[in-house]
Amino acid sequence: MKQIVDKARQAFATGKTRSLDFRLQQLQSLKRMVIEKDAEIKEAIIGDLHKNQFSAFTYEMMGLLSEIDMIIDNFRDWAAPQHVKKNLTTMRDEVYINYEPLGVVLVIGAWNYPFVVTMQPVVGAIAAGNAVVIKPSEVSKNTAALLEKIVPLYLDKELYPVVNGGVAETTELLAERFDHILYTGNTNVGKIIMTAAAKFLTPVTLELGGKSPCYIDKDCDIDIASRRIAWGKFANCGQTCIAPDYVLCDKSIQSKLIEKIKETLKEYYGDNPKNSPDYERIINKRHFQRVLGLLEGQKVAIGGEHDEATCYIAPTVLTDVQPESKVMQEEIFGPLLPILTVKNVDEAIQFINQREKPLALYVFSNNKKIIKKMISQTSSGGVTANDVFMHFSVAELPFGGVGNSGMGAYHGKHSFDTFSHKRACLIKSLAMEGVNKLRYPPFSQKKVDWAKFLLMGKLNKKKLALVLLPLIAVVAAVILKKYRWQLAGRGLQLALAFQRLF
Ligand code: NAD
Repeated sequence: MKQIVDKARQAFATGKTRSLDFRLQQLQSLKRMVIEKDAEIKEAIIGDLHKNQFSAFTYEMMGLLSEIDMIIDNFRDWAAPQHVKKNLTTMRDEVYINYEPLGVVLVIGAWNYPFVVTMQPVVGAIAAGNAVVIKPSEVSKNTAALLEKIVPLYLDKELYPVVNGGVAETTELLAERFDHILYTGNTNVGKIIMTAAAKFLTPVTLELGGKSPCYIDKDCDIDIASRRIAWGKFANCGQTCIAPDYVLCDKSIQSKLIEKIKETLKEYYGDNPKNSPDYERIINKRHFQRVLGLLEGQKVAIGGEHDEATCYIAPTVLTDVQPESKVMQEEIFGPLLPILTVKNVDEAIQFINQREKPLALYVFSNNKKIIKKMISQTSSGGVTANDVFMHFSVAELPFGGVGNSGMGAYHGKHSFDTFSHKRACLIKSLAMEGVNKLRYPPFSQKKVDWAKFLLMGKLNKKKLALVLLPLIAVVAAVILKKYRWQLAGRGLQLALAFQRLF
C-alpha cells in the first residue's frame, strides 16, 4: 500500500496534474472508458446486484457520463482565479481565491451502486488536479475486479491506482497519509475512517446513510405518492442510501396507501416480483439475514416472501409499526417499508427531530405551507417534496449528509470544491507606504480611528467621497500654489476680454 501511495505522491509532485489540459485529457479518457467498456461494466453490475441492462445503465452509467460532461464543460471556469471584493486598504491590489489541488486523495466506494459511487467522486478529484487512490468495495466483487482491470487502460496508472481488498487492505491503506478522504458507506465505518484520518489531520467527506423519513399528508394525491414512493423504496431491492426508509402518515389514509402500493407493485413487477427482470436481489447472505431479522414481530400487509438461496426478499409493506420495534432502530437498506401513523404534521416533525438527522427527507402534500413547514422545522442532508431521489439528480445541488448521515458534499461544482484548497491570495504593490503607517507603532487613538474608518464596514459611495474629497482638495491646492501666477494672468486676460465685449 505504501508503495502505491508513494508512487501516486511522486507522480503528483511532478506537477503534471496542475495542467488543465492534462486534467481534461484524463476526464475525456474516463468518458471513453464508460462508453467503450459499456458491456463489461453492465455485466459486472448485473453480476453483483442482479440488475438488468437498463437499470445498470440508467442508475450507474448515465449519471456518471453526465457528471463527466458537466465537469468538462465547466472546470476551467471553476479553476480560474476568483477575484473578490476589496476594501480601502487593498483597492490597488490583486485579491483573489486560487483553487489548488489538495494532493493525493483516497476515494472509498460502497457496494450498493458499486460503479457510480466509486467513480463519481473520482471525476471531481481529477478535475481539481489531485492524484486519486481508488478503493472499490470488496462486497461488489465483480465491479471491483473490473475497475482494477480497466481503469489503468484509460487513466494515468501512477496518479490514479485502483486498490482492491477487504477490511485488512482498507485498514492498511488508512495507515498512509492522504490529503483528503471521501468515504461512502455506513456510519460505524465512517467513525473508523475519521479516526484514522485524524492522525494526519486529513479532512474527510463522509457519505453515509441513515433512516430517511417520508411524510405523507392527508391532503395529497395518494395514487401519485404511492407510485413515486414504491419506485424509490424498491429500486435496487431497497439498497439505496436515499431510499425512503419509513412512512409517516395519518391513520385515515393508511389503508388507501397500502391498496395503491399493492396496485403499483403489480404494475411494476407483475404478479410475482421474483420473476421480474426489473427486481433486484439482496447483495449477499449476511445482508439477507440482517434484513429478514428486521421482519420479526411485524404485521405484513404486502409481500414478506423470501428465498435465501437467491437472496430474494419480496417488496414488503409493514403496517401499524411501533417506533420502538427493531425495524425502526437501524437503516433498513432492504425492501421493507414500515408505515407508522401520526396525528398531524407537527407530530411527524417531532418524530423526525427526536432521531438522528437523516440523509434524505421526503414530504408529500398538496399544501405548500405544509411542505415549507416540514423543511424549516427539520434537518436532513437533502430534501425532495412530492417525489423521492430527485434532489440527487440535480448536479448543481450539493449531495451529502448532516450529523449522523455524513459530512461534506459532492456532485458537480461541489465535488470540485471538496477536492480543492481555496487559497487566499493578495498581491500588494510596494507603493503607498504612507497608508501603512497606520499599522506601525507608535500607536495612537487617531490611528485606531483611521483604521476603523478604512477597514470596518463596506466601501460605499459615502466613504469613497469622504476619502476622495480631501484628496481632490489637496491636489487642487498644489495646482493653485504652483500655477497661481499663470492662473492669475489668465484671470486678468479673461476680465479684460469681458470688458471689451460690453
Ligand atoms: P461496504 O461494506 O461496501 O463498505 C464500504 C467501504 O468501507 C468498503 O470499501 C470497505 O472496504 C470499507 N470498510 C468496511 N469495513 C471497514 C473497516 N472496518 N475498516 C476500514 N474500512 C472498511 O458498504 P456498506 O457500509 O455496507 O454500505 C452501505 C451503507 O452505505 C449504507 O448505510 C448506505 O446508506 C451508505 N451509502 C451512502 C451513500 C451516500 O452517498 N451517502 C451511497 C451509498 C451507500
